[in-house]
Amino acid sequence: MTTRQKFVAGNWKMHGSLATNLGLLHAVRAGAQGLGAQVAVCVPYPYLVQAQSVLGGSNVAWGAQDVSEHAQGAYTGEVSAPMLNDFGCRYVIVGHSERRSYYGDTDDVVAAKTSAALGASLTPIVCVGETLAEREANITSQVVLRQLDAVVARIGVAALAKTVIAYEPVWAIGTGKTATSAQAQEVHALIRARVAQADAKVAAGLQILYGGSVKPGNAKELFAMPDIDGGLIGGAALVAADFIAICAAG
Ligand code: PEP
Repeated sequence: MTTRQKFVAGNWKMHGSLATNLGLLHAVRAGAQGLGAQVAVCVPYPYLVQAQSVLGGSNVAWGAQDVSEHAQGAYTGEVSAPMLNDFGCRYVIVGHSERRSYYGDTDDVVAAKTSAALGASLTPIVCVGETLAEREANITSQVVLRQLDAVVARIGVAALAKTVIAYEPVWAIGTGKTATSAQAQEVHALIRARVAQADAKVAAGLQILYGGSVKPGNAKELFAMPDIDGGLIGGAALVAADFIAICAAG
């Protein structure tokens, strides 16, 4: 049986300043010492250099929240995966529901971004998840598997071993409504089973995070589920004590 290490990643979204980040980064660096879980923070692009400077040499990794599908060129405003390498990033979030819904990242674009990240030896944290309307229409499995399949079709199942999947029901992101541990487990198991159809070994080793209003009070129960390997944390990642408490639950 494969034992998967727990992984907790913070998604700061478009929050922070040089001044406020400093305390948060130092607190996360100190608080993450000696924890069993892997820990990372995904910060806005301009703060990658600050994350690298404060977190370098610690057991907290850092990364970005999006990446271009292109390696370089005339793509105004975009940031490439090789650029993220320059700042010591280990991770990059791709396909977050906010990117999908506000910036038009389609399944194909998310797959291309995943591929670009892997091409630069970054670990993509690939987000999938259904909206409330899709859950109510009983098409959660269909939606999540469609999103997953698009990525696997592009990169191949073997490369999936170098990714992390984050199941984030859109209705639970930033709303205070967490999926119950049973609801989350059901989708995590579905994702793992889908991957296992193609490659049982990759499926057994794949870290699948849950995201959506994870807090210190619900992290332990969620992370105790057999197919939940940690969390992608939004709001609570901005409060050092909460983020560390969640990491400690892993
Ligand atoms: C997220 O944005 O990835 C997220 C899970 O946000 P929150 O924890 O605030 O729901």
